[in-house]
Amino acid sequence: MNKCIGFVIVMVLAQSVLLAQDVLPCGNVLSKALLSSQYEQYETLVEQAYQDAASSQVEFRDGDTLIIPVVIHVIHNTPQQNISDELIQGQLDVLNEDFLRTNADAALTRDIFLDVAGTPNIQFALASIDPDGNATDGITRTETTVESFINIDISLILEAFAVCGFDVDCIAEYLGDTGLDLDLMKSSATGGVDPWDVNSYLNIWVCNLSLDVGTGPTPFILGFAYPPVGAPNFPTEGLPENYWEKDGVVIHWEAFGKDNPNAGLLAGTNDSGRTCTHEVGHYLGLRHIWGDGDCTMDDGLTDTPSAGSNSQSQEAGSVPTCQSLHTKDSCVDDMLPDMIENYMDYSIESCQNMFTVEQSNLMRAMLEGPRAGLLNGGLTNTNEEHVVQQHIKIPSLINNTLAITGLSDNHAVYLFDMQGNLVLSRQAVSGDEISVSHLASGQYVVRVVKGQTLAGVGRTFKL
Ligand SMILES: [Zn+2]
Repeated sequence: MNKCIGFVIVMVLAQSVLLAQDVLPCGNVLSKALLSSQYEQYETLVEQAYQDAASSQVEFRDGDTLIIPVVIHVIHNTPQQNISDELIQGQLDVLNEDFLRTNADAALTRDIFLDVAGTPNIQFALASIDPDGNATDGITRTETTVESFINIDISLILEAFAVCGFDVDCIAEYLGDTGLDLDLMKSSATGGVDPWDVNSYLNIWVCNLSLDVGTGPTPFILGFAYPPVGAPNFPTEGLPENYWEKDGVVIHWEAFGKDNPNAGLLAGTNDSGRTCTHEVGHYLGLRHIWGDGDCTMDDGLTDTPSAGSNSQSQEAGSVPTCQSLHTKDSCVDDMLPDMIENYMDYSIESCQNMFTVEQSNLMRAMLEGPRAGLLNGGLTNTNEEHVVQQHIKIPSLINNTLAITGLSDNHAVYLFDMQGNLVLSRQAVSGDEISVSHLASGQYVVRVVKGQTLAGVGRTFKL
């Protein structure tokens, strides 16, 4: 079973609608196809961000644990969907274990993959300060009249996947002008809840993604996430104007948390919190390890073995055991079995227990680039008005210049090294450019007092 689209539908509808061999892809393939069909540059921008992160230097990646502030938006139409604080904390625990590789089942990683098992060294914390500077528990709860946020013609989707398989271009062409919208939960205007500043918080919407297929509500998509495409104000021609209002992760409520008592059909396969691990992997830039294609397609990383398919069951109603998947070797040329332990495969959750070193590095690189705004988690609550701060890496800034934009007034800009020493300070107004070429390579913290936005030329950081 997988994180994504349709597996349960495969099980439920197998006899009537689907053939067992119709493997339906992840929600990410669908969202990518929809965006690609509407916005010509989308795939190019995603690819740019990926290549940038994959090729960036590793010297800063072995440092401190990187902490991401999280806001969980619980959107409920029934009392059961209003999931408990305990379940949410359990999900955070799973994320932290998996991204720190302190998960107990790390011991189950096969010997053949131990050399490439990586530790992202990333932690997740429920936000303690909201975008207005008020104290928060990092959870919002919204009652909605929307019974399901999947409001699409199932037959059309199934037809598209039957014809196209995982071919994004084909799916895009098939569904492009149908007006499908997967993001209705991300706006209060459509029964959902608006995101908190997507640059400073990881927004996770937990809501109902079921579809009634005639046999009662059935999970349709278990989750999806938007990949990094550069920071806000990055050249984004070809993206929708409101793209940044979509950024984040969406998880079907029955697949959220550890040992979810409401897992229903997902019990035993998708109830241990790893749907969220997988989707946060996407959010931090990772791709499926089989590259959404056959053995000629790849995820762009060298330490995930080639795979010609995902490890989702190919047969309706059958769930392969981890043991039986150990013999899966869909691309024999690389002399390695498929890495069914990887969180970015579709094996059942109990088979999954690892990211690789390159996956870990890529996610950390994304946190220095397009996702850098997360590292200091929104506004810092101090006595000063609107104090914001941001990690930057020198010389990754274009022209070694910080460009100040979006400030309505004169602001103080401070630059500290990682030992906390003040290395630069000055007053700045919008339009100023501050050269940092005299500073040694390394990571720094920029702090803007009474500021709103601080930008590197060509790569903008909104604070
Ligand atoms: Zn996926």
